[in-house]
Amino acid sequence: MSKGTDKTDSYWLGIAGDLSAEFAKKAADVDRMGELPKENLIALSESGLDLAILPKEWGGGGISYRTYGKIVFAIARGCPATACIWLMHTGAAEGLVMLSSPERSRYYLEELKRGKRFASALSEPASGNLFLSPVQEAIPLPDGDWKLEGAKRFVSGSEWADYFIVNIGIEGKTTFFGVERDDSVVIHDIWDSLGMRGTRSQLIGFNGTRLKKENRCGEALRARQGLIALGLPWLSLGIAQSAYDAMRAHAEKKMLPSTGLPLGHAQWVQVEVAQAYVKLKAAKLLAEDLLRLADEHSEETNRAGLEAKLMANQVAKEIADLGIRVGGGLAYTKALPFERHLRDAQAGGLMAYSSELCQIHIGQSELRVGK
Ligand SMILES: Cc1cc2nc3c(=O)[nH]c(=O)nc-3n(C[C@H](O)[C@H](O)[C@H](O)COP(=O)(O)OP(=O)(O)OC[C@H]3O[C@@H](n4cnc5c(N)ncnc54)[C@H](O)[C@@H]3O)c2cc1C
Repeated sequence: MSKGTDKTDSYWLGIAGDLSAEFAKKAADVDRMGELPKENLIALSESGLDLAILPKEWGGGGISYRTYGKIVFAIARGCPATACIWLMHTGAAEGLVMLSSPERSRYYLEELKRGKRFASALSEPASGNLFLSPVQEAIPLPDGDWKLEGAKRFVSGSEWADYFIVNIGIEGKTTFFGVERDDSVVIHDIWDSLGMRGTRSQLIGFNGTRLKKENRCGEALRARQGLIALGLPWLSLGIAQSAYDAMRAHAEKKMLPSTGLPLGHAQWVQVEVAQAYVKLKAAKLLAEDLLRLADEHSEETNRAGLEAKLMANQVAKEIADLGIRVGGGLAYTKALPFERHLRDAQAGGLMAYSSELCQIHIGQSELRVGK
């Protein structure tokens, strides 16, 4: 992604910040109703942000990865479900525009401009974490196309998607395709989830779905990082920031009758807030370093992505937990936002690569064992 000018980058950050403030007003309703935040997603598309993520030479706004991460952070701070769907939508759209044939690429770009929705259908029911090595194999058809008989699970925003990027094995090799929604694509409503309820990350059955040869993606043309891996740490950090802000405001406001002072005057709260502040800052620095490496097309980006995601996932869970403790009994109810933060914060560590997988890769690399 070519680096945009500072003006351009700050313009897009301003847009994301303004939208985030609006999204925050409806985040509790999105969670309570478990409905797709369609209005938010339309607002993002109409603001031009969907297109801004593409390099200029591909018809986009050419924002840097650094700015992309901060945009995901801003949106997640307001409404994590919106940020998650947007992350998967932009990641899928970018993949299809950049990896398809020139003709199909132009087509997807035009569809993106028209506000069409894209979704990432990558995780398999058998093992979502190994989504880059699918066990499902494409079935060859006599006319040179293939068909997909199988399923993908936890596809965020799938009910509203017009196009999917799917991956499948062809003679054992992972291959990506663009799939246009048709009657063979059946959505199964499984998303009665703990948190991130507005993502409606459903199970999709592909019942003999045709994988057209012209929709087969090529290999990555150059060293580019996937937007999803770069954005996932920022999704958790947005939740962490939102939980931190709410917790700090509560500690400043809530009066303790026993002391006649706000809760923030209690020493244990000061100690915990200091820990949370420093950990959040450290996690952001790690995630910023990831984006710097991505903008430099560094070979260290993949490893840095595991580190940044692990840290961000953990910090989000810790700060959300602190919010519950600082909020007390009311925080255990929907009267305060802390229980929502706690539920939403669990998702990051489950999403691929899970915190356990990140630790395995980093630990093996550090100890020079395994692969
Ligand atoms: C909110 C949300 C939104 C999502 N959106 C999308 C989306 O839009 N598109 C999409 O494709 N996917 C999406 N996913 C799926 C996600 O990215 C993961 O693929 C999925 O959550 C992994 O789930 P699983 O149950 O298949 O995990 P599994 O891979 O089965 O893992 C289960 C457990 O086993 C552990 N484990 C797995 N492999 C190993 C190993 N080799 N060694 C040791 N331990 C291991 C894991 O750490 C975990 O503890 C979403 C998930 C969530 C929660």
